Amino acid sequence: MIPYARQTITEGDIAAVTEVLRSEFLTQGPAVPRFERAVADYCGIAHAVAANSGTSALHIACLALDLGPGDWLWTSPNTFVASANCARYCGARVDFVDIDPRTYNLSATDLTAKLERAEAIGRLPKVVVPVHFAGQSCDMRAIAALAERYGFRVLEDASHAIGGRYRGEPIGNCRYSDITVFSFHPVKIITSAEGGLATTKDAALAERMARLRNHGITRDSAQMQNVPDGPWCYEQIELGFNYRMTDLQAALGYSQLQRLHDYVARRHVLADRYDTRLGDLPLRLPYRDPDSYSAFHLYPIQVRDDRRRVFQSLRQAGFGVNVHYIPVHTQPYYRRLGFQPGDCPKAEAYYARAISLPLFPDLSDEGLLEVVAAVRDLV
Ligand SMILES: *Cc1c(COP(=O)(O)O)cnc(C)c1O
Repeated sequence: MIPYARQTITEGDIAAVTEVLRSEFLTQGPAVPRFERAVADYCGIAHAVAANSGTSALHIACLALDLGPGDWLWTSPNTFVASANCARYCGARVDFVDIDPRTYNLSATDLTAKLERAEAIGRLPKVVVPVHFAGQSCDMRAIAALAERYGFRVLEDASHAIGGRYRGEPIGNCRYSDITVFSFHPVKIITSAEGGLATTKDAALAERMARLRNHGITRDSAQMQNVPDGPWCYEQIELGFNYRMTDLQAALGYSQLQRLHDYVARRHVLADRYDTRLGDLPLRLPYRDPDSYSAFHLYPIQVRDDRRRVFQSLRQAGFGVNVHYIPVHTQPYYRRLGFQPGDCPKAEAYYARAISLPLFPDLSDEGLLEVVAAVRDLV
């Protein structure tokens, strides 16, 4: 079986985690700040706050942006449910902006039209979450210009996109956003088993997220509301969570980060091979936006004929193809909130034909040729 995604674990990764196991701290030790600093340096940004998943990083990012009851968060329907759920955790309402049928990313054109309508009825979003689908950046310049015009905050869901670039700069530097979130789940570009991280230029947002991931507690006397009784004092300033990343996870993430560049380069080699070997078939291959250097988390194709038949035949032949994504607004939970099929026709049309082919750094050249041969047989 060739899966659609799989982590690569080296002896160096194992040694890094083992070293933590033999050390004083399994959690709240030195490995987490070291990992945060390394990701921040990679992205060229001041602050990074690690969390125990991408989802919890999205949650504390929304809270830090003061998203709450009565507010709206807008995101793409072509994403994992977490991009929308983070608003629901805060008691905020969600709406969806349909996708650009070329990139499958949230469409800046649709966003513009929706903002005009929302302004007319006084229902502008507080936060917009562009998702860099498959690792390719959204049109962040256009989104940032709209944020300026309409006064919303921008939270990039870059769960697919660490190692990618936008207009020559690393994703995660927040040039066009307030906060960027990464996921380190094993299917993603680099892994810490479970884990996530938020980057920001804003020291106050970073401080708030760091506090929210640790019960809302601070040990910094500058943040305290009362004069501390002594050096043992901490204060719970607000209601937070235990969303801490462990040192085991951070050590694995740090070790993986050293190979991020190579992993993304290998993903590009494989994607280029799919492009050349599938280019003559009646398929739609991933569009390459010239503004973007994708991290190539996914290689999504659209088939012209019956998607179910192609999908099932590939699965039966031992290829762990997958589908990204079932449009979030069609999930039962979101339907109960009033959404229905037809609300985002472009995301639904894309979904109806989408298949993600296997793509991960350890996929061999021969493995890729097997996938190619199976696809060629079927379409
Ligand atoms: C994986 C993923 C998440 C959630 O990340 P976890 O680390 O699994 O919590 C959020 N958004 C997108 C787009 C993802 O792919």
